[in-house]
Amino acid sequence: MRKIKGLNAFSIGKRLTIAIDIDGTVADCSKVDFRQVNRRPDEFLRAEPIKGSLEAVKRLYKDGHTIIFHTSRNFGSKRATKKWLIKHGFPFHHLIMDKFVAHVYIDDRAINGCNWHSVMKAIRKSDLPGRIARRKGVI
Ligand SMILES: [Mg+2]
Repeated sequence: MRKIKGLNAFSIGKRLTIAIDIDGTVADCSKVDFRQVNRRPDEFLRAEPIKGSLEAVKRLYKDGHTIIFHTSRNFGSKRATKKWLIKHGFPFHHLIMDKFVAHVYIDDRAINGCNWHSVMKAIRKSDLPGRIARRKGVI
């Protein structure tokens, strides 16, 4: 893969490198007991694919984009995470177990973009996913 100076994972061309989060993005973890996952990573196998995610990822993969799943799950759950993706038929090129845990990610390359007016409005909302996670004690 040809690299562009200053960046670290891009090839030149029309195809995109797409980073996709797992929990809450493609995996509905409402049945997962997060208190158990460090001891029993297979607990993650209780997650269900989020409606529409499988079809979308398959489409992106088929269109030739590079699919990279990345997650803040601990490294010890890599095998279970890969097993879950394969079990449900998610195609991908890489699985990266390297994303620090945060309640909110602000990123100019996120699909939602980075309009600071919208960011400041959204970050105060009670239905912000990070706020919901904090209330539930997930993180
Ligand atoms: Mg997530």
